[in-house]
Amino acid sequence: MESNDFSMQHKDSGFQHERKPGVVNLFICKCPRCRMGDMFEYKNPWNLKHTMKMNKECPVCKQPFNLEVGFYYGASYVAYALTLAFTAATFLAWWLLIGISIDDNRVFYWLAINSVLLLLLQPYFMRVSRTGWLAFFVRYDKHWQTNAPKQPERTNDEQEGNW
Ligand SMILES: [Zn+2]
Repeated sequence: MESNDFSMQHKDSGFQHERKPGVVNLFICKCPRCRMGDMFEYKNPWNLKHTMKMNKECPVCKQPFNLEVGFYYGASYVAYALTLAFTAATFLAWWLLIGISIDDNRVFYWLAINSVLLLLLQPYFMRVSRTGWLAFFVRYDKHWQTNAPKQPERTNDEQEGNW
């Protein structure tokens, strides 16, 4: 709902001059097409009951979020890449700040801390992976206010979850 108010305000001030919402909005799970609507129904990913509850379509630009049966299976590749990148980043940080040596257990502390962090970040990673996966197929459209979103061809609500 907040996103709708946001776009209204901008329309009033003339959306020609509107600043393009950045790619960074994908990291807060915004719709890849308008970068303004929320992909998920609940803001907090750590509200575990509702972590994966998605809107059927973008509340702002009406982009459908389910492109075909089992569409988000592919999000696991994004999740894998994210996990690797995160692990590489903590390893690098640990190496630079604390150091790693074969003479002590410091590397095991890194391993433990990295595992705990990955576990804690899992709900967020699952969400942002879906956003990233959708962004491969749905590009930012700066004319989203006037263009209609492309409708998916191969969805089947009855078969959803059966594949
Ligand atoms: Zn949208």
